[in-house]
Amino acid sequence: MASTDVRNPQYYHRVVDCQWACPAHTNVPGYLRLIAQGRYDDSYLLNRESNIFPGILGRVCDRPCEPACRRGRVEEKPVAICRMKRVAADNRGDITDRLPKGGAKNGKRVALVGAGPASLAVANDLLPLGYDVTIFEKNATPGGLMRINIPSFRLPAQVLDEECDYVIRMGATMRYGTTVDSLKGLLAEGYDAVFVGTGAPKGKELDLPGRWDAKENVHIGIEWLANVHFGHVERIGQRVLIIGVGNTAMDCCRTAKRVGATDVKVMARRGRKHFKASPWELEDAEEEQVAIVENHAPKRFVLEQGKLVGMEFEQLAWSTDATGKQVSTVTGTVVVPCDDVILAIGQDNAFPWIERDIGLEFDPKWDMPIVDKETHQSTRPGVFFGGDAAWGPENIIWAVAHGHAAAISIHHHCQGIPVTERPPVGMTLVSAKMGMQSWAYDNDYDTTKRAKMPHEDLAKRFTDLNVEVELGYTPAQAALEVARCLNCDIQTHFDAPLCIECDACVDVCPTSCLTITTNGDSETSLRTRLSAPALNTKQAIFLSDALPQTKRIMVKDEDVCLHCGLCAERCPTAAWDMRTFDLKQAYAGMVTR
Ligand SMILES: Cc1cc2nc3c(=O)[nH]c(=O)nc-3n(C[C@H](O)[C@H](O)[C@H](O)COP(=O)(O)OP(=O)(O)OC[C@H]3O[C@@H](n4cnc5c(N)ncnc54)[C@H](O)[C@@H]3O)c2cc1C
Ligand code: SF4
Ligand code: SF4
Repeated sequence: MASTDVRNPQYYHRVVDCQWACPAHTNVPGYLRLIAQGRYDDSYLLNRESNIFPGILGRVCDRPCEPACRRGRVEEKPVAICRMKRVAADNRGDITDRLPKGGAKNGKRVALVGAGPASLAVANDLLPLGYDVTIFEKNATPGGLMRINIPSFRLPAQVLDEECDYVIRMGATMRYGTTVDSLKGLLAEGYDAVFVGTGAPKGKELDLPGRWDAKENVHIGIEWLANVHFGHVERIGQRVLIIGVGNTAMDCCRTAKRVGATDVKVMARRGRKHFKASPWELEDAEEEQVAIVENHAPKRFVLEQGKLVGMEFEQLAWSTDATGKQVSTVTGTVVVPCDDVILAIGQDNAFPWIERDIGLEFDPKWDMPIVDKETHQSTRPGVFFGGDAAWGPENIIWAVAHGHAAAISIHHHCQGIPVTERPPVGMTLVSAKMGMQSWAYDNDYDTTKRAKMPHEDLAKRFTDLNVEVELGYTPAQAALEVARCLNCDIQTHFDAPLCIECDACVDVCPTSCLTITTNGDSETSLRTRLSAPALNTKQAIFLSDALPQTKRIMVKDEDVCLHCGLCAERCPTAAWDMRTFDLKQAYAGMVTR
């Protein structure tokens, strides 16, 4: 088999599991080490380069990085990667002078529709390049669903204001209170490019018997949360049922508890392991005494004298059929009394304002625009989509990642470069050696368990909708938490010509991830021949060049490496070195060739 090409930045990038899993590829171990050194400003700015909202995401990110974190393979819980962003944000000083600035105008005008995270990310990347950016937003404030749907007890308005402002202050023209009701009309205004970041604004309906007779007391989750945000809704009945068990349901049930409900039940069709809500959101809801009721499928709204008094559910038992599919059987029915029902069963896109005769094709099955996955361009050149508007509801960090990618395309479109030509991703790889067996990172394995997030007192939480529940880690907790990181970006770099095949590294490795063996034709068989078989086939194994003496090869299972550096400390010839890997991401304006 051919040796591994470690000059390809994606090889070592894959080893940094958290960074790889993050849609914006934030340099997690890098910002954690900066926190460990008390360099909060630097940590905040390193975060901001990729995710642009460290204070926001440090509170509410969906955190795809955490299930991927290598620490979760060594013990039960991953590093609290997400909440450490908040540590950097909360403890930063005045960083405004170090933020990117708007560039000298380049004569190109770009319209962004919607002021959610996707459009703000596009603006963040285009303003420094001199684009004249106008953002059209139907509401009076920026932030999109981050502001009108995520409740302020999870994300305070002041955090949102500050981080949206860092972008807008670079010189975006904000057209608040302006609903774009015709894309044709907007295009006629002569913009060089248009970005559609209008989200997925339509909550799904549940058209069961009684729905329309009970309409005063049946609410669509995302509309209801927005109404609470705008102050149009201040109260709800005491007994509330939430239908659905995704993250919107979690915000609905907790908000209901703050506007008068005392008995809140989240009704789920399936068992807990199939829930869409993140485990931590479920924990937080249950801490606030919300009941989660499994295996109940809604059947009808029950009314008495024209008033909603309950909802009937089918009770389900689930089993697996011969094809492995989960199937349900109805075991009975039950009426659960309630005063209000909130529907939180998903969101749809809606583009009534995009004419169908402007060369922008829609997929007839889903009535969604056809958008290229890499360039974000629609079938009409110069019109781009991102965030929830592109392929349906996702989350904030995906919206930001889309914004960065779309900004590259918009820049290329405006500068006459093909949008398919992408700036390359690069890397630096620098030895972490500080002297004999001493490294520029803390390579001790720390057995500390994950820090528990302090929460506001339960009684105080319900006094005001705006009381933030999570209080953030204390400095002492943060210091312990950063030490849990295994520094997956400090790579084990192997130089085959220096190896004398003494086996010292193989012997010392605490996770048996090194093997010196003969090469072979098949990775499958090679994986089974290692000191400890490399079972995770999603993570590539490292194969060195032929070793000078016997022509065997060094093989490493990257999956279980702790980055402890013992191999490099033990090696008598420095064939192993620990090197700090830094991924150089591609952003708009970077040269493509
Ligand atoms: C209840 C709820 C809770 C959530 N919680 C989380 C969470 O904890 N973490 C997370 O990562 N994600 C969460 N999400 C998802 C996240 O908020 C979205 O994925 C993200 O905001 C999408 O960003 P966007 O920029 O694509 O669109 P949006 O945030 O939806 O912004 C779109 C903007 O466009 C404006 N707009 C729409 N149409 C027009 C028009 N025609 N003219 C002018 N303006 C227009 C809207 O007013 C809005 O401001 C949650 C979503 C919901 C519904
Ligand atoms: S241990 Fe650290 S570097 Fe490794 S995946 Fe977890 S947070 Fe990232
Ligand atoms: S750094 Fe070296 S010794 Fe430590 S786990 Fe990884 S391969 Fe083994």
